[in-house]
Amino acid sequence: MYRRNIGHILYPIACLLGLFIVYQAWFKPTYLLTPPPSQPETVVERAKEAPPEPQYTGPAEPEPKQTRLIDPTVVPDTTHHELLETIRDEIEKGNVKTAEVKLTDLPPSLSSDEKTRPYVAVLWNNLGIQLEKAGGTSASVYAFKKASSLDSKSPTIHLNLAHAYWELRDPAMTQSFLEKLVTLAPNEAFPHLALAELFQERDRLGEAARHLDLATARAGKDPAVQSYLKTVTAKVRRTEKSDARLTSRDSTHFTVKFDGETDQATWVAVLEILEEAYREIGQRFGHFPSKPIVVVLHANATFQSETGSPAWADGLFDPVLGRIQVPAQGTLVDRAWLRRVLRHEFVHALLHDQQGPASSTFPTWLNEGLAMELSEDRWSDLDRMMKQDYTLLPLPALEGAWGELPADTAALAYLEANSAVRYLVDRFGMHQVHGLLSHLKARQALSAAMQSQLSLSYEQFQSRWLDQLQVQVKKS
Ligand SMILES: [Zn+2]
Repeated sequence: MYRRNIGHILYPIACLLGLFIVYQAWFKPTYLLTPPPSQPETVVERAKEAPPEPQYTGPAEPEPKQTRLIDPTVVPDTTHHELLETIRDEIEKGNVKTAEVKLTDLPPSLSSDEKTRPYVAVLWNNLGIQLEKAGGTSASVYAFKKASSLDSKSPTIHLNLAHAYWELRDPAMTQSFLEKLVTLAPNEAFPHLALAELFQERDRLGEAARHLDLATARAGKDPAVQSYLKTVTAKVRRTEKSDARLTSRDSTHFTVKFDGETDQATWVAVLEILEEAYREIGQRFGHFPSKPIVVVLHANATFQSETGSPAWADGLFDPVLGRIQVPAQGTLVDRAWLRRVLRHEFVHALLHDQQGPASSTFPTWLNEGLAMELSEDRWSDLDRMMKQDYTLLPLPALEGAWGELPADTAALAYLEANSAVRYLVDRFGMHQVHGLLSHLKARQALSAAMQSQLSLSYEQFQSRWLDQLQVQVKKS
């Protein structure tokens, strides 16, 4: 029998979520795990025995959000003094459209004149900040670029531009851009943080750790930020050390690390599976990773201790290090199992890449559901479970990290995620899913994103999915 009475579990879960939201806001990384295998009996049994997922005690990413205005009070004394003053006032009043048109139409002589050029740059910078308030980073980045082209020496303008690049994962945020920023703003932590991320993505962990140290020294006294940086630095150094004993093989799209002595055959199989996933899933999802993904094959015995994953997890994607970790070393690995785990984690890596910094708040049920759907590891057991008087968890309760859910609830969470995302894809199509992801990438909440993309409220989506599920239950 199917029961939709969720009132009695709603309250405790809502409390839990309150903590999660604080956690999500401050403690960016969440592990994305491969669920246990798809036979429901195994799932529930193994999940019951499993200890709760370790709570990640890592700390707040010091989200670089302090875009700064430049004081525009002193308008340079030129024949266009009045025009510049008008534009300044329009920006301050928030009339961005008018200000934008007037700035774009400025006589070219103003931008080439040594005396007025830096002031025009200030106006573009301040317009950028207004544009960002109204339309997010994607609307403001061009204004900061414009400001930067007019004044190549202003630390504030370039920090604003760097923050915009960082939010957008813009490839223009290169090593040389950031190194120039370090010379312009030597006391700022952010350029070092961004450099650390850049080196980390290139798997140059030693250099990443060096920049993390430099960032820590400049990050101020905020204990949350300090503790975040220390934890991440320690993790990067530890990983650099443990990586040293591994052999590394590159394909065009992946770097696979494994124990070279024992594991020639496994990494060949792993690369084959990954390249196939790259083509197939990338095509279906309409996004390909912007850089090679690191995949580490751990020994089964040390997987848990080295990655901090729960006992029941078959693999994980670590968003701090941006790598896939799999316990598949030293033994003859079951190829079907390997394929399932690698494809699942590849989707997490793909979503992480596609969402950029917004991936830290990406709803977990959507993330796990997409991983199951796109990797074609579908579970069809929810309707079967429903006949056994199961109580479903509301989707909003499954948006945060799942580690704190009781273990058997976690198995149900995977089933629900799978079912809800399949409904989403079947009913609305991948194109709409893409639209939804763009809204989330622009930091819209899921409810707002659904409303604008699917013309449905979150509640309506959920109740239609449940209605359809009930029809399925009756049929089966
Ligand atoms: Zn997963």
